[in-house]
Amino acid sequence: MTPRPNVFGLDRAELGGAVESLGEPAYRGRQLYGWLYRKRARSFDEMTDLSKAFRRRLAAAFDLRWPALAERQVSRDGTVKYLFALDGGATIESVYIPEQKRRTICISTQAGCPLKCAFCLTGIAGYRRNLKPEEILGQVAVVMTDAPRQQQAWNIVVMGMGEPLLNYEATVAALRILMDPGGFAVAPKKLTLSTVGILPALEKLMTEPVRPNLAISLHAPDPELRRKLMPIEERYALSDVVAAAQRYPIPRGGRVTYEYVLLGGVNDSPVQARELARLLRGSRAKVNLIPLNPAPEIPFDPPSPRAVEEFHRILLEGGVPASVRKPRGQDVLAACGQLHLKDRAAALTPSASTAPRPQP
Ligand code: SAH
Repeated sequence: MTPRPNVFGLDRAELGGAVESLGEPAYRGRQLYGWLYRKRARSFDEMTDLSKAFRRRLAAAFDLRWPALAERQVSRDGTVKYLFALDGGATIESVYIPEQKRRTICISTQAGCPLKCAFCLTGIAGYRRNLKPEEILGQVAVVMTDAPRQQQAWNIVVMGMGEPLLNYEATVAALRILMDPGGFAVAPKKLTLSTVGILPALEKLMTEPVRPNLAISLHAPDPELRRKLMPIEERYALSDVVAAAQRYPIPRGGRVTYEYVLLGGVNDSPVQARELARLLRGSRAKVNLIPLNPAPEIPFDPPSPRAVEEFHRILLEGGVPASVRKPRGQDVLAACGQLHLKDRAAALTPSASTAPRPQP
């Protein structure tokens, strides 16, 4: 028996077509859209303003499925790491990060990643496939439903596994529904897409009517070093990426974020900090310094706390706003691409709760 197609993940037009194919008027599609993405119903039964007969026909023609949760781990600091098992056997990760004034969901766009950045576990583990819109949106639906009821606004960062701009159509389809006031209603300024700078796709993103914030993974102030850390530099050069990013339309006063993973003795020297400040000074830029999350598979060391402090200070003195990312969820390997490496999951610290929970 072939499985019924999943109704979760379909956009307004697709839902309109789906309900019409079942002999219902198009406005039923709008109702269905609200149930799926605003109210995040788990079954057709909950959709009480649709007739019982129509709900039966919907359930006969479609499934309503969120990605299957394979593992859920809670860190001492409240960070929750989710591992999803997708159709076909691939696994992906999402992370929930509670903070004082906000809470953030970090989502994946590919199972694995083809880019092979030298310090990134996802790249080291290899590439499986692009995620579908339902799989990208589904991560958000599961995490939002699972999180404690709180007032703080949601932030979403597309900084999990994969390169979102290598999966443009599915990623943008998901982001549209996330940012739609009639959908998940996440404010565009609360959503950040992180990319190495796939230029043709970045240009395309600039023309979208509603756009997320932009973060660029830079990691080196010069092309020679960047090439060693990020093979994609061969294809899309640092100077072109920065030039394109600076044309990205953001509201007045907004800035493009440049992520810079600090690797001890590799890209964390004062000279490199000054070079980075020169590169970005005077542009609408801010730098997010990320001390490396080390792992046995990663052939680099974290920077010393002193190097981080010095690098940060030089950027600020050089006129470039900068912040240092606090590590979160380290006891549950929530850092980067760690949980889906099964052999390592066995090495979890006992403080982490590893009990899988039924899907919310
Ligand atoms: N492909 C996209 C999004 C995923 S990576 C991109 O590269 O931007 C999200 C961020 O996590 C990137 O800035 C990436 O460089 C960083 N990252 C990857 N591995 C890391 C590690 N071991 N420690 C710290 N940051 C890491």
